[in-house]
Amino acid sequence: MIDDRQASADPGYATRPLEAPGVSGYLPQGGHRRRDLLARPPQRIQRAVVPTREVVCYECGKVCRIPVSALSATCPHCFAHLNMDNMTLKPGTRHLHVRTLGDVKIPAHVELSQLDIVCRHMQAAGRISGTLRATGTLTLAGEASLTGKLIADTLVVQRGAHAHVSPGISVNQAELRGTLRGRVHARGGAHIYASGKLIGPCSVALLQIDPGGQHIGPRETPDISA
Ligand SMILES: [Zn+2]
Repeated sequence: MIDDRQASADPGYATRPLEAPGVSGYLPQGGHRRRDLLARPPQRIQRAVVPTREVVCYECGKVCRIPVSALSATCPHCFAHLNMDNMTLKPGTRHLHVRTLGDVKIPAHVELSQLDIVCRHMQAAGRISGTLRATGTLTLAGEASLTGKLIADTLVVQRGAHAHVSPGISVNQAELRGTLRGRVHARGGAHIYASGKLIGPCSVALLQIDPGGQHIGPRETPDISA
């Protein structure tokens, strides 16, 4: 049996008012937590800066900014789904209709027809036909042979290549370090390096031929509107 007086004298049994700082809305000094919080100046929200890159939507042709790390995106102008995969076309593939903001590679042993490709950079060494549009650089290597409607920003014919375009290719810039057979229409300039050779008509505003480089064929006046 514990005497009541003994229990009250024992500090172990003494009861104290519950104090839970941070729970009560009222502060001991008569302050008010909620009011004090609201009275504080608003803190500046630090947003993480996401690195972005500019891409050209292959559906509407407008420029959009997308995160560098994005694997796919939606065009803010036309809401088209934008694919960013890099692809390597294999022999006998059924993926003849390709739309990507990534790069497409066509290896030397690949022969495909009825292709319809829109991509960023393309590296071609095989024999293909169809419609090709590269918003970046089209690099021709080996015995690359391209037939159809061919459009690129920059055409690069690699050193040692013996490439063929039929009937021709329309680009902004052309760099020939190897041999190219076919018509070249370059709105900007074309540069035939010492190891380069162009066999075919050339429609270009500015043609630079290094010593050793060759152009065999007529030079036409470029049609700027084309
Ligand atoms: Zn679009």
